[in-house]
Amino acid sequence: MTGKTHLMGGVAGTIILIHMNTYDPLLFISAGAIGALLPDICHSGSKIGRRFKGLSKLINKLFGHRTITHSLLFLILMNMLVAFLTTNEGIRVGILIGMVSHLLLDAATKNGIKLLYPLKLTIRFPLTIRTGDKGEAVVMALLSLLVLYYSKDVLIHYL
Ligand SMILES: [Zn+2]
Repeated sequence: MTGKTHLMGGVAGTIILIHMNTYDPLLFISAGAIGALLPDICHSGSKIGRRFKGLSKLINKLFGHRTITHSLLFLILMNMLVAFLTTNEGIRVGILIGMVSHLLLDAATKNGIKLLYPLKLTIRFPLTIRTGDKGEAVVMALLSLLVLYYSKDVLIHYL
C-alpha cells in the first residue's frame, strides 16, 4: 500500500476507538498516523524512509523489505521502546494501533508480510490487491468514509 493509504489506515484505526477511551483524541490519532508509517522504515523510498534515509538503508540491508518491520516481533519491540520513551498511554496505544493497521493493509497485498519473522512464512489475506491499483483506491475510499463518519466523535470531544 502507498504511504497515503497507510496514513489513512492509522487515522481510521484510532478514530473509530475514540469513544472507547479517554485519550486526547488529536494526540491519539496523530500517534496512529505516525505508527502507520513506521513499518515502512525498511524502504528508503517510503514517507518515513525518506526522512530517516541512513536508518532506513541500514534496516533494508540487514533485513530486506517487509520482513522484521512487518512482524509481531517489531510490534512488541516498538511498543517496548515507546513505553520507555513516554508514559503517555494515548501515544503508546495510538502508535501500536497505527502499526497494526499497517500490517493489516499490507497483508491485503499480493506480496503479503512476514508476520512471524524470523520465520520466513508469508502471511496474506485470501483476497489481495496490488499497491496503487483500483483495489487500493477502493480501500482508501472506505477508510476515508470511516474517518469522515467518526470525526464527529473528535468534534464532540472538543465542543
Ligand atoms: Zn509496509
